[in-house]
Amino acid sequence: MKGVVCLVGKFEGERSVSRILTTCIYCGCGCGLYLDADQGRIIGSYPSGNHPVSRGALCVKGWNSYEFVNKLDRLTKPLIRRNGRLEESGWEEALDLVSRRLLEIGDRTGPDSLAFLSSAKTTNEENYLMMKLARAVFRANNIDHCARLCHASTVVGLKAAFGSGAMTNSIEEFEDADCFLVTGSDTTAQHPLIGSRIINAVRDRSAALIVADPRNIELVKYADIHLRQKNGTDVAWINGMMNVIIEEGLHASRYIEERTEGFAKLREVVKDYTPGYVEVITGIPAYLLVASARIYARSEKAMIIYSMGITQHVTGVDNVKSLANLAMLTGHVGFRSTGVNPLRGQNNVQGACDMGALPKVFTGYQSVGDKEVREKFEAVWGVKDLPAVPGLTVTEIFDRARKGDVRGLYIIGENPALSDPDSNRVRVALQQLDFLVVQDIFLSETAEYADVVLPAAGFAEKDGTFTNTERRVQRIRKAIDPPGEARADWEIISGVAERCGYKGMRYSSPSEIMDEIAELTPIYGGMRYDRLEPFGLQWPCPSRDHPGTPYLHKGTFARGKGQFMPAVYIAPDELPDQEYSFLLSTGRVYWHWHTGTMTRRTSTLDREVPEAYVELHPRDAERMQVIGGEEVRVSSRRGNIEIRVKITEKVKEGSVFIPFHFKEAAANILTNPAVDPTAKIPEYKVCAVKIEKMIKCGKVV
Ligand code: SF4
Repeated sequence: MKGVVCLVGKFEGERSVSRILTTCIYCGCGCGLYLDADQGRIIGSYPSGNHPVSRGALCVKGWNSYEFVNKLDRLTKPLIRRNGRLEESGWEEALDLVSRRLLEIGDRTGPDSLAFLSSAKTTNEENYLMMKLARAVFRANNIDHCARLCHASTVVGLKAAFGSGAMTNSIEEFEDADCFLVTGSDTTAQHPLIGSRIINAVRDRSAALIVADPRNIELVKYADIHLRQKNGTDVAWINGMMNVIIEEGLHASRYIEERTEGFAKLREVVKDYTPGYVEVITGIPAYLLVASARIYARSEKAMIIYSMGITQHVTGVDNVKSLANLAMLTGHVGFRSTGVNPLRGQNNVQGACDMGALPKVFTGYQSVGDKEVREKFEAVWGVKDLPAVPGLTVTEIFDRARKGDVRGLYIIGENPALSDPDSNRVRVALQQLDFLVVQDIFLSETAEYADVVLPAAGFAEKDGTFTNTERRVQRIRKAIDPPGEARADWEIISGVAERCGYKGMRYSSPSEIMDEIAELTPIYGGMRYDRLEPFGLQWPCPSRDHPGTPYLHKGTFARGKGQFMPAVYIAPDELPDQEYSFLLSTGRVYWHWHTGTMTRRTSTLDREVPEAYVELHPRDAERMQVIGGEEVRVSSRRGNIEIRVKITEKVKEGSVFIPFHFKEAAANILTNPAVDPTAKIPEYKVCAVKIEKMIKCGKVV
């Protein structure tokens, strides 16, 4: 612990300020920051100068990552619904009720009528326990979390191509790359510290930057080429780049021969995607596609960076596989400053996946269908007959709840009433449950439907670990006590297990839980708290003396040979038509995070973007006679919202963009729940909407 907690000042009387090293709660960059604690309150945050990601900098969210912690509307006592109203209760009563009702439902309608949503905001140790609770105590594999909605395509696609579904390289390596191909990532808004590394490389070392994005995002200002594809046409332009590379003999023949398989099939599929054909599908001028292919292929160290603009499609897995194909075709994977680099959204979405908060796998992506793996977990957990059949995904859980098949649901730290697609249908599902438990730090929109609400500690109030986007497992540390009677999630989950009669969840600290994770999880085998000081280790870290792995697939792929998996272009599920003539895409803004639970309680952030807006192209606004700031009604086949217009050339003519942070104009009322057939990720990035003026001739209509 040396150097991670220190006294920074003494004030009048007994007052003193402690400065505690921890990890930012917002995005997957995983910046290191200090929290200053004074008399049980957090009074400031500061960047860590030596942290390998943040290196003395934070974005505006990191600098303001503490204000919400001190808010008066934090949940401080358990709540139980009585006569339709949530009323305060004691912990004993609340935990007894939760365990009794979940056991009753499991006994009455079977373990598959129970489901569990874990959280990419909570720690690895807590995700591990939630997964253990579902499987060991309730014998249900119906456990999932929000990774399903952001990077499920990555986990499936990269695992199939390379044998590992994670970011291949490290953030530090951005410094040495010659070329960046950034697609589907508004990097400066979503992963600001990574965005600034890209900009520095372009400005200071003249690294090439190709941005493929339908929106005119900030990075375009620094780009050599902007490929402005139509939303949902990614397979076509990536195949087009590969067509040019093969036609011009720019592919890495020796690398392909020695390290990959399936090249002949890839060549066969991409030969049809000539630049002219691709221009018809994507709208990308052929000459720009050709130039991009040449720059990427000829660069010595080229990195692909992508995010949810690639994954949140019905073809999300095909999109990811296509990027993997492109990297292998040019030999740009398996070396420093190269690779395929999905930027994970939430602070611990990588860790929640690693911990097996997924329906098909235990920790470290070990299959529930593998008998040997099940036996290993059974032995350590002291149980028999763990379920072998994969469980339901998030979207399937809500579909089955609407049908009455899922009857009990336990959610920690997620807000599906606002964050999931076609959210009106999610709310119907929540209402139909026999029993809903929500464990959170605030009374979220989802918690309002709960039978029991359990008050949880925030990131500044507990110990644990997060795993950032580059697979770095690093500590968070308790700076203050939780408010009122709130408890750490790991303590609450253990309490539920205990009341269910399960004795295998008695831990004295999160460090002890990590020891169990390491015992069961080869890629975390060497992770122990004493080894994570001060800035963590990157997995795979299989043993206590292993130094961690900055980049993957050195010499050989995790699956042996890299697998080319060509895809053909398939159009999005729902495109504009006569009635719904605009294409809607959704996303985040720099100042806010997800459903705004934390950022909208932070004055600096809320002041900058206090309300929702729809971005509309100037020519569309002129045609519709709409002015900036005017309220319009945006409708899809699933619902409608009323929202102010922001006129901007950031979007293309015929397209609109809405940030999804605002409950007053919740973008996910509109989005399409159609999913990728393999990864089951919804198509948040494309759906058809219509826009109507609400004031005509001085009257609201
Ligand atoms: Fe936090 Fe991400 Fe900003 Fe870093 S870049 S300070 S992790 S929100």
